Amino acid sequence: MSDFARKSKPKTSLFKNTISLWNKSVTRVFRKSQIDDLFWDELEESLIVADISVSLTLIVIDQLREYAHKNSVTETAEIYDIVKRYFVDFLSVNNNVDPLKDPKKIFLFLGVNGSGKTTTLVKIASYSCQLGFSVLIAAADTFRAAAKEQLELWASQIGVDVISNPDSKDPSSVVYDAVKSTRARDLDFLMVDTAGRLHTSNNLMAELDKIYRTASKNAQGYEVFPILIMDSTVGNNGIVQAREFHEVAPCKGIIMTKLDGTSRGGALISITHELGIPVLFIGTGEDTQDLVEFDPRVFVEHLLPNT
Ligand code: GDP
Repeated sequence: MSDFARKSKPKTSLFKNTISLWNKSVTRVFRKSQIDDLFWDELEESLIVADISVSLTLIVIDQLREYAHKNSVTETAEIYDIVKRYFVDFLSVNNNVDPLKDPKKIFLFLGVNGSGKTTTLVKIASYSCQLGFSVLIAAADTFRAAAKEQLELWASQIGVDVISNPDSKDPSSVVYDAVKSTRARDLDFLMVDTAGRLHTSNNLMAELDKIYRTASKNAQGYEVFPILIMDSTVGNNGIVQAREFHEVAPCKGIIMTKLDGTSRGGALISITHELGIPVLFIGTGEDTQDLVEFDPRVFVEHLLPNT
């Protein structure tokens, strides 16, 4: 565990609401000790209620039934442990990716409105500065003037410059200028704040495509690193969102925000399983320091605690 993760250790109440939701759905099924047909039906239903996609739920149930049959398992407690192991496996996909290990990256923060893009960008920028990297921020949310002002205020608090272009409504032109400036100043990281967009909006997704292509075309020695910022209250719609964003700008990581609130979190399991995008960090509050490195075991242990 890095110094940062140790410093940012989650408060004990961190996943309180997430746990209670899962307790109500998944753990309830395990109150009965013996496996029977009803147990499998109830487990299937509870996983879907807990935001695991239908297709993944069916795979999990099939594998569990096969395991139980082959190994003559009769106690639900053993299945509980195996469900946890599966979830840890799904969430561990590509988890050797460390975005802040090496310099020369252009991070694009993507997601729907209000998911926490700007807040998370500032958290990552602040952490990068703590690690000794030089950072530039691009205010490419050209829709909301307030977004630029908010970003400038936070950036000044952490001592990072912000590039914007008040005369342009085209976020790609801001990205172009920012990439050029990052290269000219030989900076380690560029962090691009993009406007929130619904994955169903064709125009805005086309604009995102242009942002991604502009960054990629001009990167010259920098790695373009789109990060999907996902609100943990999103529920089952999360997989659809992730799929659409990933198609336009192939995401190299996910940061799930608001795990300190009334969150669900189960969608993350389907997303990592289906798309293979690693979870990098989780957001645990509104302050700059409220960011924790993602640990699949800790996460699953909180979702499905040992009673
Ligand atoms: P954006 O529209 O995606 O840029 O979202 P913002 O960064 O403006 O965040 C939207 C709201 O979510 C703000 O009120 C943030 O303070 C809040 N927020 C962002 N991340 C977190 C988090 O991890 N936990 C909590 N509780 N609130 C968060």
